[in-house]
This record gives sequence, C-alpha cells and structure tokens, in this order.
Amino acid sequence: MAKVLIIGAGGVGGVVTHKCAQVPEVFSEIILASRTLEKCEKIKAQLPRPIETARVDADRPAEVAALMKRFRPDLLINVALPYQDLSLMDACLEAGVDYLDTANYEPPDEAKFSYTWQWAYRDRFRAKGLMALLGSGFDPGVTNVFCAYAQKHYFDEIHAVDIMDCNAGSHGHPFATNFNPEINIREITQPGRYWEGGRWIETGPLEVHRSFDFPQVGPREMYLLYHEEMESLVNNIKGLKRIRFWMTFGESYLTHLRVLENVGLTRIDPVLYEGHPVVPLKFLKSLLPDPASLAENYTGKTNIGCLFEGVKDGKARRIYIYNVCDHAACYREVKAQAISYTTGVPAMIGGLLMVTGAWRGQGVFNLEELDPDPFMERLNRHGLPWVIEER
Ligand code: NDP
Repeated sequence: MAKVLIIGAGGVGGVVTHKCAQVPEVFSEIILASRTLEKCEKIKAQLPRPIETARVDADRPAEVAALMKRFRPDLLINVALPYQDLSLMDACLEAGVDYLDTANYEPPDEAKFSYTWQWAYRDRFRAKGLMALLGSGFDPGVTNVFCAYAQKHYFDEIHAVDIMDCNAGSHGHPFATNFNPEINIREITQPGRYWEGGRWIETGPLEVHRSFDFPQVGPREMYLLYHEEMESLVNNIKGLKRIRFWMTFGESYLTHLRVLENVGLTRIDPVLYEGHPVVPLKFLKSLLPDPASLAENYTGKTNIGCLFEGVKDGKARRIYIYNVCDHAACYREVKAQAISYTTGVPAMIGGLLMVTGAWRGQGVFNLEELDPDPFMERLNRHGLPWVIEER
C-alpha cells in the first residue's frame, strides 16, 4: 500500500492518475497536484475512486517539499515539464521521497536536453537512501526496457538498435503536437544525431529519412532525430556499434513546421512585441490545441518499437520488439490519446515496481539498468502488450 504524489495535470498526468487509480491494492492513496487546480479537478471527476488534489508550483522546491511533508507520499511522479526535473528532485531530497519522471531535464533558455544534470544527483540520492528513476515513459522508458530485455534473453551482443516511433493516427487538426507543443517542437527542430563506432554523428534537422513498413500500420516515412534514451543506452548495452532514433511525420505536418520555423515562430529567445518581451514558441503554444484535447476524436494507431541486430550463440539475429496502441481505445478507457497513454502507463508501472520493491536501488537509474522482466510482464497486464518478431 503506497501513497503517490503525481505532479502535472496535462495529457500524461491524466493517464498516470487513471492508471494508478486502477491499482488500488498498490496505490492506496493518490494526490494529483499541478499549477492549475481546475485541471486536477477535471481529472478527479473522471475517476471511479476518490483522490486528493492540490495547487502547486513545481518550480519552487520548498513549496513542493511542504506539500510532501503534509501528505507524506512514498513516491513523486513528475509528469509536469522537463524544466521542473531538478527542482522536483531537490524537493524529493528535502522531503525524503523517491522520484520518477518521463523526460530528462532541459534548461528553459536553451533547447539542450541531457541526463548529465540529473546523473549529477546520484550521490545525493544514494546518501539519503532514495531512488530516482529517469525517463519512465515510452521513449524513453519502454524502449530502454525493450533493449534490456533483448540483451537479457535474445542476444549475446547487440550490434545495432533502431528505435522507431510511428504515430499513424489522425486528430483532424491541420497542425497539432501530441504532447506539450513547446517541448515537442524544441526537440524536433534540433540537429539530428546518432551514435556509430564509438562517437556521435550529427545531421541536419530531419535531414535523414527512410521508409519502414510498420506492422498493423503500413509503410511510413520516418526521420532521424536525436533522442534522449540513446545517451544512457550507449553506456549500458553490450557490444553496441550503432544506435539511431526515428520518428514518423506526415508531409502536411512538416510543411507547417517549415513555415513556422521560417517566420520565426519556433524561436525560444524573447523578442520585443509592443514593448513586451515575448518568446515566440511560448506564444505559438498558446495558439495550438492542448494535447489532451486531441483525444476525443483521434483515430488510428501508434507503433513504437526497437529493431535489433546482433549475435546469439555465434549466429546473426534480427528482431523487432514493438507495441501497437489504438487512439480511440485509449479514449474509451481513460479519456486520452495514445501518445499520452503510452507515456502514462509506463510511468505508473515504473512507480508500481518501485513502491512494491520489485525495483529497488539507491541513487539515480535509467530503466535499462534494472531487471526488464517484471516491467515487460506489467506492460501486458496494464494495456501496452508487446510483440516480438524474429526477422
Ligand atoms: P502538458 O503540457 O499536457 O502537461 C504538463 C502539465 O504540467 C500541465 O498540467 C501544466 O500545468 C503542468 N505544469 C507545467 N509547469 C508547471 C509548474 N511549474 N508547476 C506545476 N505544474 C506545472 O504535457 P504532457 O502531459 O503532454 O507531457 C508531460 C510530460 O511528459 C512532459 O515532460 C513530456 O516531455 C513528457 N513526455 C514523455 C514521453 C515519453 O515517451 N517519455 C512522451 C510524451 C511526453 P498548466 O496546465 O497550468 O500549464
């Protein structure tokens, strides 16, 4: 029986709260806190069991620590924004609470995400006997667990990994992002980067692309991006020679993005508008649909997985491990679209494994450092079944 504090009442926060509420034998008490209390109340009203809600500013560690000292949670699940990761880790250290998130820290004034800031907390978490689990969403998250599972059961050495994220759904808007628009656009407008032969190789933004035939979805054009899970996987996967990350985009999405970039609306530095400093990307975010609001009419499926090449017992082997998720089915279950769902379910599972003691450790961990088997078993049980294809 554990108490969990969920911070962030957006698309992902809604799913985490629903999924924790579905496991009352583990999450006996839930508190959902966010900047806008009404969003917490809206999610609370959808649930079959009571939870507490609170207003909190996650940028203020003292405020969060005070909330935790009152509520005394066993775990904080951070599904606010990556900007809040460090302040929430500070709050956990002060209140003596375990920590979990789904996206690594990036400074608000620079589009540069990296684990280095959070890995620097290892000694402090260890000294307090606390555990922090980083990146327990789908990618990062499930993709890291797929790598650990492939390494444990299918390969002696993994030589190449292609992580492929395909959303073949349709939400009916001319342009919208599936998770927080500011974070999403910062990520995909950066130069691409992949790791080969022991070093990082940089490409132009969305410069490298190819088609892949995704099971249950069909062929889609996918684009090489830099993505955060690669930063830890290059350290933790044996014999790795190459790792790349790909994401699918449609032509219309890319055309809109190109125009927005060309007119300067994706800039993250403040510009003066009628004497007031305005960050164009934040302004653009305020015009775009809230990702949670896309859910109701979303149709189609996602397919996210990892294609592995390597050797087992001296023979070459190639396998694809993936999950297919249906937007409309997610809406029926938890009033969310599949991107929020595929992020929120693994956050709940990571939390469940921590509070039940199946995953324990002192310090700061990425998911591939822990035993993948209980996580894989829980994915099947909680709505994200996976498939392994030998290729
Ligand atoms: P949303 O923008 O929908 O939700 C973010 C929520 O956090 C909002 O409710 C927002 O409040 C709240 N929030 C923001 N700042 C603060 C603050 N200072 N104090 C308290 N609450 C705050 O985003 P998503 O739900 O789409 O994404 C949530 C997280 O999940 C992001 O970090 C994203 O990067 C990550 N993610 C991870 C994925 C993965 O696979 N690993 C995939 C998709 C997302 P308000 O409503 O007031 O703005």
